[in-house]
Amino acid sequence: MSHHEKSGLYLKSRKYSELLRQNAVYLIFFHKNSERRIFAAMSAGNVAYYTLGCKLNFSETSGISKIFSEKGFNKVGFEETADIYVINTCSVTDFADTKCRRIVRQALKQSPGAYIIVTGCYAQLKPEEIAKIPGVDLVLGASEKFRVFEFIEAFTKRGCARIESGNIKKADHFFATYSLGDRTRSFLKVQDGCDYFCSFCTIPLARGKSRSDTIKNTVLSAIEAASKGIKEIVLTGVNIGDFGQNTGETFHDLILALDQLTDIERFRISSIEPNLLTDEIISIVSKSKRFVPHFHIPLQSGSDKILSSMRRKYDSAFYRARIERIKTLIPDCCIGVDVITGFPSETEEDFLTTYRFLNEMDISYLHVFTYSERDNTSALKISGTIHPEERSRRTQMLRILSEKKHRFFNEQFIVTTRKVLFETAHENGLIKGYTENYIKVKIPFDPMLINSIVEVKLETIDSDDEVSGTVTHQMDLSLQKII
Ligand code: SF4
Repeated sequence: MSHHEKSGLYLKSRKYSELLRQNAVYLIFFHKNSERRIFAAMSAGNVAYYTLGCKLNFSETSGISKIFSEKGFNKVGFEETADIYVINTCSVTDFADTKCRRIVRQALKQSPGAYIIVTGCYAQLKPEEIAKIPGVDLVLGASEKFRVFEFIEAFTKRGCARIESGNIKKADHFFATYSLGDRTRSFLKVQDGCDYFCSFCTIPLARGKSRSDTIKNTVLSAIEAASKGIKEIVLTGVNIGDFGQNTGETFHDLILALDQLTDIERFRISSIEPNLLTDEIISIVSKSKRFVPHFHIPLQSGSDKILSSMRRKYDSAFYRARIERIKTLIPDCCIGVDVITGFPSETEEDFLTTYRFLNEMDISYLHVFTYSERDNTSALKISGTIHPEERSRRTQMLRILSEKKHRFFNEQFIVTTRKVLFETAHENGLIKGYTENYIKVKIPFDPMLINSIVEVKLETIDSDDEVSGTVTHQMDLSLQKII
């Protein structure tokens, strides 16, 4: 008999999961000859996370999860039993309320006694509504989402929800987060909130004013992500071009500082407002060895009349000039565009103006959003509501245009050789990754390729719009120093 058994610390492995379901700290030893060998675990309980919405939300869920881990909690998948479920909501998602209810129900079905926390944009905008969902225990607003342990000492259900959601106008704290996901790419939150008031958008009401960390701290966060094996960092925020509103620094200076880092292979600028995408930023990206040739630039409409009633800060001529500037300096650049269909007062002619504008432009793909009414937005006061069926028809037309644009973009690179960063996922015997200019590439699975950058000859475009190719050079280029 081992000394663990003698001291009463020996536990059967099946008991381990039962113990973890309770909120306490345990030190568990298994017999060294048992299948699991000697094992020590300390856990305050299991926490599962569900994220709705954008990349920023995914990054912030990682931040919340880090806070729980630091307190000794164990992260589990959302389909597993857990002691606490954290649901990070989105205000842009349609039927946010219905979705939230469904997710809460699913969590409680798996673990009937679990403590349910709901946070995120929807929780900031409609805390009372969320508090009424049966089973919800805690609603956390935008400023409170990273302060859960200031409010709660024991995660005990009380039968009614507690709301911790302050005045969004006072939100001035910036909490830096980055997602780890599959450990290849990370979404690094560099900015939060927005001072623009586009007439269709609730984000400033849900996230407050524009704010960010200092360049110094953002660089440190990037280095920390790199130390975990991350090869590509996607700069994420609500309006990232507005970086430094509260610190007097600029986005331009941020990317200059990040470009000096040798720890990260790739930086990707996610989405940037056209009026903040300066010639200097385009020039830095055109010369950079780390900032990849990819921009995502919201347009929303090609009609100047609609752009003005959306309260956007540019017109179509300005936008066109941005695209031309990028393509002159970076011909292989991938350019994604956000566009909204069915905005109030958008006539057929306005829509066709948008369609023609996008069709003429040298862009790579569209993200098409169908306009939907949001409480407390000024667009609600604009007359000329578009029938939902007509909105869908316009969306459909632009989605087809997007497919054509994307295919045309990919075709230009067939038979060329590009560097691909392969990710970890293993789907149907294939491994997938992205080129610098965001072409999705797949090849037969090879474990040696996980999280490495190799040269691939792009050969064919499949019906799913992904590109197949052949590795031309097995060497992981990410191991080489970029000079
Ligand atoms: S720039 Fe406009 S659309 Fe984007 S978050 Fe700010 S208000 Fe919303």
